[in-house]
Amino acid sequence: MTTMGEFDLIKRYFNRPELRPGLPMALGPGDDCALLQIPFKHQLAISSDTFVSGVHFFADMAANQIAQRCLAASVSDLAAMGATPAWFNLCITMPSATTLWVNSFSEGLAAQAQSCAISLAGGDTTKGPLSISIHAMGYVPVGQAITRSGAQIGDVIMVSGTLGDSAAGLQLMQRQRSGADPLSKRYWNPTPRIALGQWLRRKATACLDISDGLVQDLGHILTASGCGADLNTQNLPLSDELLAHVSVSQARDYALSGGEDFELCFTLPACLIDDAQAYSKSHSIPLTVIGHTSAELGCRVWHGDEGPFTPPQGYQHF
Ligand code: ADP
Ligand code: MG
Repeated sequence: MTTMGEFDLIKRYFNRPELRPGLPMALGPGDDCALLQIPFKHQLAISSDTFVSGVHFFADMAANQIAQRCLAASVSDLAAMGATPAWFNLCITMPSATTLWVNSFSEGLAAQAQSCAISLAGGDTTKGPLSISIHAMGYVPVGQAITRSGAQIGDVIMVSGTLGDSAAGLQLMQRQRSGADPLSKRYWNPTPRIALGQWLRRKATACLDISDGLVQDLGHILTASGCGADLNTQNLPLSDELLAHVSVSQARDYALSGGEDFELCFTLPACLIDDAQAYSKSHSIPLTVIGHTSAELGCRVWHGDEGPFTPPQGYQHF
C-alpha cells in the first residue's frame, strides 16, 4: 500500500484544476487563507456539514462514492436557499493516506464539483477516524434567499423529483455494496436541485432540502412560518424503480420519513402552480403538489379521504 505525506497529498489530490470549475478565486488553496470575492449586491450563503464514517456512510463504500455523496449533500443546502454554488472547504480526517483511496476520493470530488460548478477553496487534512466536513459557500442576490419562515396559509406544498428512493437505496447498499442500481445511485449520488432553487427565488415563500425525511423537514418550515399542513399520501411522487422494489405502502413510508433524497420541498402561492408546472415540463424535473398549508398547526397526513394519520418519524441523531 503506497502512502504519502500531508503536503504531497494536498498538492496532488486537493489542488487540481479539476476541483476548481466554480467562480474564480482571488487566492485558492495553498496559503493561510483563501481570498474570495462575492459578486456585487449579493450575500454569502454558507453551510457546514460533517459526515462521519459508520453514521453518514459505510466505511467500506468506494471513496469516490463517499466524496460525491458528501459534496452533493452540502451543495443541496445552497440550492435550498436559492444560492448559486461557488466554493467549498474540505476538512478531511482519515486513518491513513493510501494513494488508491485518496485518488478515488479526489476523482469523485472532482466529478461532483464539476457537476455543481463549485471550486475547492481550501481545507484541512488530519489523521484519525474517517470523517469529512464540508463548508459550502454560494451567493444569492441581497434579499432573495429563500428561508424556511415565509410560508403563508393557503400556499401549496410542492416537492421536486421523487421521494423515498435514497432510503430504499441505502437498504440495498447495506446488502450489496456495489451501488450500481438506480436506487443505490440515488443514495450515493443525489442531485442537488441547484437550478430549481434559483428559479424559486421570489416565487417560493419557503424552501428546504429533504435530508431527514419529508414530514420531519416540512415540520421545520411549519414551525418557522407558524402554520400547519395537510398532506395526501396519494400525491407523493414515487419512482417506477421504487415501486418495482417495494410495496406501495412501504414506498409511501420511505417517501414520508426516509431521508437524504435531497429534493426540494417548498411552499408556493397557489397562483404560481401553472408556472411551476411549465418549469417542470421544460426542465424535465417532476414538481408535485403534495398538500397545502393551513391555519391549524401541526402536520396531518391523509390517505385519500381517510385520516388524518400520525406520520412516521424521520431521522434524528439524538
Ligand atoms: P495551516 O497550517 O496554515 O492551517 P495547512 O498546512 O493546514 O495550513 O494547509 C495548507 C494549505 O492547504 C491551506 O491553504 C489549506 O487550505 C490547504 N488544504 C489543506 N487541506 C486541504 C484539503 N483537504 N482540501 C483543500 N485544501 C486543503
Ligand atoms: Mg497557517
